Amino acid sequence: MAKTKYVYAFGAGVAEGDGTMKDLLGGKGAGLAEMTKIGLPVPAGFTITTEVCDLYYKSGKKWPAGLDAEVDRQLKTLEKIAGKKLGDSKDPLLVSVRSGAAVSMPGMMETILNLGLNDASVEGLAAKTGNRRFALDAYRRFIMMYGSTAMGIEREEFDHAFGELKDNVTRIRTKAAANVKINDTDVDADELAQLIETFKAIYRKHIKAEFPQDPRVQLKGAIDAVFGSWMADKAVTYRKVEKIANIKGTAVNIVQMVFGNMGDTSGTGVCFTRDPNSGDNIFYGDYLINAQGEDVVAGIRTPIKLSDFEKKDKKAYKQLLDVRKKLEDHYKDMQDLEFTVEEGKLYMLQCRTGKRSPGAAFKIAVDLVKEKLITKEQAIMRIKATDIEGIFYPMIDKSQTKILKDSFLVQGIDAVPGAAVGQVAFDAKTAEAWAADGKKVILVRKETSPEDVGGMHAAQGILTATGGKTSHAAVVARGWGKSCIVGCEKLDIDYVKRQFSVGSTIVKEGAFLTLDGSAGNVYLGELTLVKPELPAAYLTLMGWADKIRTLKVRTNADTPYDAENAVRLGAEGIGLCRTEHMFFDSEERILAIREMIIADDVETRKKALAKLLPFQTKDFEGIFKAMDGKPVTIRLIDPPLHEFVPHDEAGQRALAAAVGVSYEHVAQRVEQLHEANPMLGHRGCRLTITYPEILDMQVTAIISAACNMAKKGVKVAPEIMIPLVIDAKELKILEVRTRSVADAIIAKSGVKLPYMVGTMIEVPRAALLADKIAGVAEFFSFGTNDLTQMTLGMSRDDAGKFLPEYVDEKKAGIFKADPFQSLDQEGVGMLVKMGIEKGRSTRPHLKVGICGEHGGEAKSVKFCHKVGMDYVSCSPYRVPIARLAAAQAVIEEAKCCCSCKKPAAKTGKRK
Ligand code: PEP
Ligand code: MG
Repeated sequence: MAKTKYVYAFGAGVAEGDGTMKDLLGGKGAGLAEMTKIGLPVPAGFTITTEVCDLYYKSGKKWPAGLDAEVDRQLKTLEKIAGKKLGDSKDPLLVSVRSGAAVSMPGMMETILNLGLNDASVEGLAAKTGNRRFALDAYRRFIMMYGSTAMGIEREEFDHAFGELKDNVTRIRTKAAANVKINDTDVDADELAQLIETFKAIYRKHIKAEFPQDPRVQLKGAIDAVFGSWMADKAVTYRKVEKIANIKGTAVNIVQMVFGNMGDTSGTGVCFTRDPNSGDNIFYGDYLINAQGEDVVAGIRTPIKLSDFEKKDKKAYKQLLDVRKKLEDHYKDMQDLEFTVEEGKLYMLQCRTGKRSPGAAFKIAVDLVKEKLITKEQAIMRIKATDIEGIFYPMIDKSQTKILKDSFLVQGIDAVPGAAVGQVAFDAKTAEAWAADGKKVILVRKETSPEDVGGMHAAQGILTATGGKTSHAAVVARGWGKSCIVGCEKLDIDYVKRQFSVGSTIVKEGAFLTLDGSAGNVYLGELTLVKPELPAAYLTLMGWADKIRTLKVRTNADTPYDAENAVRLGAEGIGLCRTEHMFFDSEERILAIREMIIADDVETRKKALAKLLPFQTKDFEGIFKAMDGKPVTIRLIDPPLHEFVPHDEAGQRALAAAVGVSYEHVAQRVEQLHEANPMLGHRGCRLTITYPEILDMQVTAIISAACNMAKKGVKVAPEIMIPLVIDAKELKILEVRTRSVADAIIAKSGVKLPYMVGTMIEVPRAALLADKIAGVAEFFSFGTNDLTQMTLGMSRDDAGKFLPEYVDEKKAGIFKADPFQSLDQEGVGMLVKMGIEKGRSTRPHLKVGICGEHGGEAKSVKFCHKVGMDYVSCSPYRVPIARLAAAQAVIEEAKCCCSCKKPAAKTGKRK
């Protein structure tokens, strides 16, 4: 077996690695190798691979056999290229030791500069450069970085000692007034020599040993420190928050030092080849004259803008401009660069694809197409779902870093992105009342139910202690694009005391909270929010995406408002109108539906339904009008009836009084409706099988509304959808009844109204028997929320309690993603694919869509394209995400799947 290579060298125009090897060499190592290869000025060095980091942790923090020898060999090569030796007392080679994982984790891991200095080599550096101050400055930095980073001494202690020296020695020597700031650069060589002794004493005090003089010992300590930083709390937390998984560890880059602190013709800087906030094609960055990299990060002195750098040092700036062009031409994307100028000569220290704001992501992608650097397809592939989310949702102003840190309270599940600020209200009524008074409200509930919808709508954001990403709160809030955090289990809510606590912190009703739904973070107080503007480039790029995609995108909407909003966002129809949501719109409606539910006989039930009919008809008219000829799929009643009735005595007494029956009657009826497993109980089409008069009322409302609008010249295309079907005969009974009600109304109205009757595929049995069911259904809509719940045997409302462990790679890691969020393609996906194929085997033109939450999740949308669906349907704010993903699916499909040069296979297409 070939020996594993642990170390990859670069230097003098040659590199063993390249830019494609990010996983192995980390982003920094791959960038350094690639820049070396394309002839940019990069100091020589070598990269220890991320695999070594993995092995280091697997073997109890030990280096793998052979690494020592490989480092020695590479060090010799580096010494040869540099023409200097590490630790040499006359002309020493100094190196930097820096971390670099495959995914950038800014500020999370460690860097040690000037390694190789000791009491002897510092004098050699002084003699060689003729600059003793510079050499001593480099040595004091090294002791401090090594002491704090590799050995864990508080950096504060070094900073404090430096401050004392400046005040007690430099200030006196320079005769500076007490209010004048003493800069690092004011400290002279003798004072630095004194500081070095103090630093060594600090080191000795904490480590109980002398500062290591052997550069090889220093190097080992620094490499171990970089590996150690991979598992530091902040890095682990960062990966968790940023959902960075499946990467092995950090690489370690050992690079020859170049010095930005050699006087006024030297300096160091960081820059982006384009503005990362606006995306404008403007060179953007900071430069610090006479400084080392850490000074820029530490903010010791204020850097100058690149435009001022140009004025100060035209020659060096010109070199940087050339590099900018070369790198953009090479990578065909905006790059983030770190560089140093040593006595007028530019060196590149880092290059990676630059992080950018969502708006900039669109602007840069579109501009690069206009500049003919990339194709439209490439531009589309560069946009992420999170870029789209970022364009629409208000965001927390992330520049307030200190405030963010100080006011952080707790983290829950990030159900709907975007931020919200408001006062805590513990029930929907309070939320509505306060919102009506002009207050901003955050609704905080243990969980939400359909009865809370008014308060949820009135609130700026929603926070719940339980539930997952498809819980009621999440689904409803997503529909409105409203910030929502669910499953925040640390919240201890006391509705009686009107307060909640998180550990020892108590938050009373009325206190201000800020939610960051994108991260699931809850903050105390009012943080500043910013609303990004919709950039023109967004419209351009989405236009390209629409031309490419073949999958249609519809929306899940229950009101004309949602429908209009979704059309503005690009929806081409309604894929799911949940009629039951309409029952909660007013007291009158709730009362009527409750009256219907507690009715003892058909006649009483019909009377109550007759009260609902005008409301439903009016709602459907509004929706048909808003959709103006686009298809509208309306689902008949679905939830178990007990969800609609009051469960407390006061509510039941009020209902009894309003309807004119006894309290006992209501209480008994509610008791009868109780089910041990309501989601597997009397719901969906089982309700219309037993109470067909509900179907009659709903179909009457749909078809009357359609006829009324058609008469007014509005084009209508209703599709009546029957939920939770398990059998062709069951569907047939309901289809026959639906058509008889519908056809009678159409005949009476005299309009020509084509309509469809189809079903949801939500129960595994329906997918298994799809060929038979398609004999009756004109269309299928996969309800993957229920299909996931029933295929996995996992309650969609309770899975939040244990599912995180199933998804967490460090724990059980059974699923790669939450199956309620991203379709379980392997399991549930198999049923979907089979359902489509079977369905189309008996009805070749069967129209197929999806209306579960997965319809707005990029990976699931791509799957839907692949298995030949006609459309996906999702909440309005996810429509653009689905449009983009559908286009990306076409582009990915067109890519060669192997060496055959044919596009990848697509399955289950409509025949
Ligand atoms: C589904 O089950 O996927 C679905 C869309 O229906 P609901 O979420 O209303 O149960
Ligand atoms: Mg369902």
